[in-house]
Amino acid sequence: MSEELQLRAEPAVEQVHRAAAPSTARRRLRDELDRLTTVRAVLESEALDQETEAESVGELSSIDQHPADLGSETFERERELSLLEDVEAEMADVERALVRLDRGAYGRCEACGRRIPDERLSAVPAARFCFEHQAAAEVIGGLET
Ligand SMILES: [Zn+2]
Repeated sequence: MSEELQLRAEPAVEQVHRAAAPSTARRRLRDELDRLTTVRAVLESEALDQETEAESVGELSSIDQHPADLGSETFERERELSLLEDVEAEMADVERALVRLDRGAYGRCEACGRRIPDERLSAVPAARFCFEHQAAAEVIGGLET
């Protein structure tokens, strides 16, 4: 696996076929939370930049400003905000996973109670479902991990 593909905060070398110790799970969740906090900060500052840009655009005369450009800026901003919402939802999932960890319920599928493979938990530390029920959950309600 190449370095660039490891966008998620997962350790480069790890035995993924055994169930992880709670301390490993906790570290992964904290790393994930750190990563999401960073992503959120970047998105927030970008959203702020665009707001500033939009203001300066508003001050210019409309001669050079094609309406389509304004439209794409609005679109950009909406996309940015929806990304921000996604990140915040993911952060909430990670926080819930930390609570499950404290209760000893971490790493089990919420639908069937079976252990979620560690391979999946190392990629998606806040996973709530096994592969099978994740797919089912997405079909039913657009639930995300
Ligand atoms: Zn399941």
